[in-house]
Amino acid sequence: MDVRARSHFLTDIIDADRAASRHGGLVRTRFPPEPNGYLHIGHSKAIALNFGLARQYQGACNLRMDDTNPVTEDVDYVQSIERDVAWLGGRWDGEVRFASDYFPEMYALAERLVREGKAYVDSQTVEEIRAGRGDFNRPGTDSPFRNRSVDENLDLLRRMRAGDFADGAHVLRARIDMAHPNVLMRDPLLYRIRHAHHHRSGDAWPIYPMYDYAHPLEDAIEGITHSICTLEFETNRELYDWVVDHTGPWDPRPRQYEFARLALGYTVMSKRKLLQLVKDGHVEGWDDPRMPTLAGIRRRGVPAEALLELAEMVGVAKHNSLVDIGKLEFCIRGDLERRCKRALAVLDPLPLTLTNWPDDLVDSLSIPWWPNDAAAGSREVPFRKQLLIERDDFAESPPDGWKRLAPGREVRLFGAYFVRCDGVERGAQGEVTGLRCTVDLHSRGGAAPDGRHPSATLHWVDARAAVPCEARLYDRLFSVEQPDAEGDFIRHLNPNSLTTATAHVEPALARAQPGDRYQFMRLGFFVADTVTSTPGAPVWNRTITLRDTWTRPADRATSQPARADRSKSGQVTAAADLEAAFAAAVDADGELRALAEGHGLSKAALGRLASDPERLQFLRDALQAGAPAELGLRWLQNEVAGALAGRPLRQLPIDPAGFAAFVRLVADGKLAHAAAKQVLGPWLARGGDAARVAAELGLFGVGASTIDVAVADVLAEMPNELSRLRAGETKLVGALLGAALRKVKGADAAQVRAALLRAVG
Ligand code: ATP
Ligand code: MG
Repeated sequence: MDVRARSHFLTDIIDADRAASRHGGLVRTRFPPEPNGYLHIGHSKAIALNFGLARQYQGACNLRMDDTNPVTEDVDYVQSIERDVAWLGGRWDGEVRFASDYFPEMYALAERLVREGKAYVDSQTVEEIRAGRGDFNRPGTDSPFRNRSVDENLDLLRRMRAGDFADGAHVLRARIDMAHPNVLMRDPLLYRIRHAHHHRSGDAWPIYPMYDYAHPLEDAIEGITHSICTLEFETNRELYDWVVDHTGPWDPRPRQYEFARLALGYTVMSKRKLLQLVKDGHVEGWDDPRMPTLAGIRRRGVPAEALLELAEMVGVAKHNSLVDIGKLEFCIRGDLERRCKRALAVLDPLPLTLTNWPDDLVDSLSIPWWPNDAAAGSREVPFRKQLLIERDDFAESPPDGWKRLAPGREVRLFGAYFVRCDGVERGAQGEVTGLRCTVDLHSRGGAAPDGRHPSATLHWVDARAAVPCEARLYDRLFSVEQPDAEGDFIRHLNPNSLTTATAHVEPALARAQPGDRYQFMRLGFFVADTVTSTPGAPVWNRTITLRDTWTRPADRATSQPARADRSKSGQVTAAADLEAAFAAAVDADGELRALAEGHGLSKAALGRLASDPERLQFLRDALQAGAPAELGLRWLQNEVAGALAGRPLRQLPIDPAGFAAFVRLVADGKLAHAAAKQVLGPWLARGGDAARVAAELGLFGVGASTIDVAVADVLAEMPNELSRLRAGETKLVGALLGAALRKVKGADAAQVRAALLRAVG
């Protein structure tokens, strides 16, 4: 992990603490996973953050197994966590710590709370306790056991600890306030009885501390200064402080801060769900290369640096959001591009015979591993009369614009010679089983003396020397962006997430060691599997394709306008050219041009959509049904098509008229843009009336007036912040905006910000 100075709200807090010499300027963080499963990509963000802050401030970061729940935890998980954290570059201070090692101290503090009248043993059933707690609208009621004497409480607690009682007979509760506005503060449970074997403490403890009691004590005992957790613990902070303040004094006194958890499209990221995938056999194990676990991702061939890059790119925020998986894939490709040698392999072979090459002649070609850096090493690649090329690099009747091999055409074989196809060989059904070609013997090394350039460069291998290996071609595990948005996430598994093929690799690759990575030219980045490879017979995992195969080329071009797109034929097309080409296609088609001009549509956007006739027809019908044109086109192209992930539109339970109504909601401001995005997934899954779906989700009607009311409420609730903001502390806009956004879930952030600035004046 490098020490690039980062700055975000947490560094602001630490800077302020240091300026005030709090904790003597010391920073000690911790990463506290519960060892009940393997770590996943989401954890990589917490790891990067906690270990990164410790580095940045020359502090320390602890690795702590939060193992207070005996039943779900396992030593195998502990080991996997250590491996994964180390892999990401996390260097923990001292030994790995275990919360279970603090059980004696936690228990002693519980007795102290009892002695000080701050905790009591409750003998109600779980249901009675729950019912007595009340809810947001109703205060709780006191337990009939709340006023037991200190002696009685102490006696009961000691007998709980001695194992005298059955599970559920009693619990230890803090005595705080049964009418507290924060429900979590209504006499929370501190200990429960659990006769269960613990993977470390064995059978020593029949009682186990609850998370909200244990976690702050773990931090305090370890001298943590900044205890960073995810946003869902925001309401627990009050209890965290209560525990710390009633057990201390602690120096340093830890404080809890929350940040947004990382959620990625096309994945699920809860250990419980990942466990289900493993247990029910949907994947081959926790380290299945399709899993979003760090073990799976590593086995898939993704370097740790790519995940750290993603964490950096996503940043540290206070609001949860779904990160486009394209960002992760972008980081992976960028990293592998710099890291991987380029090798030759063929996945779907078509034999090619060079009719003018002597039968027994072998030419040994020295081909650099790096195309632009011959000095960085090269290897010998044999070249003979019989070769293999990729089947889809040949077309017997090539379509317009075909650049690759076809009868009568010439191509370059990478690093070797130019070959021209003279004819084909056929099988019994007339299918093409091989090609007959002539080689230009003067083009060795890939250049001809006359300076001519074939229109494509193909990859190839020598048929006799090539080594057949198993290749596992992975794709996204889920076929929709939010598999767990509603219903059972299992039904969104992508049935094609794994296909196997036989890769014919150049001889040098037979010596690859497990974990070695290569770019198979024009096919993707591959890694020799660390689990199933055997000496001389690597099994290849495809880490990722060279290009994004999920978005269509034009979408890709617009999302990364600065980057040129190297298409399969080896040509380079710039994004701007594509835009121009789409616009030109519309101009060239009278009907399309009329449609664009009649509705004031962008020609480039329409041209892109029109390359899919089904979508074009859908748009026409939606316009007929009264959809606002430009907005309809944009939503269809960007959002609906994105959600389709390659499936045909007709598979969705929506029709053009329903879509037109949906877009009108957005155009009329009845549904804020951000809210509409949230409605889209469930609506596309269910069909019917989008307004109904929006209303059910509570997103409907986040209009201007609702926003103004929310903003006014926030300003009334936060008078200090308001006056400081008015006095010029502009960074408080963020805090106020955050509070307002929480009130108007789904509203457009820009709109809320504008309303806020208006109200502040
Ligand atoms: P899960 O729901 O996957 O079980 P968890 O939060 O229960 O996750 P822990 O083992 O308790 O998992 O997590 C250890 C640390 O990692 C915690 O501090 C937690 O806040 C953080 N963390 C977990 N998931 C994410 C995520 N998706 N993004 C960022 N941090 C995360
Ligand atoms: Mg958990």
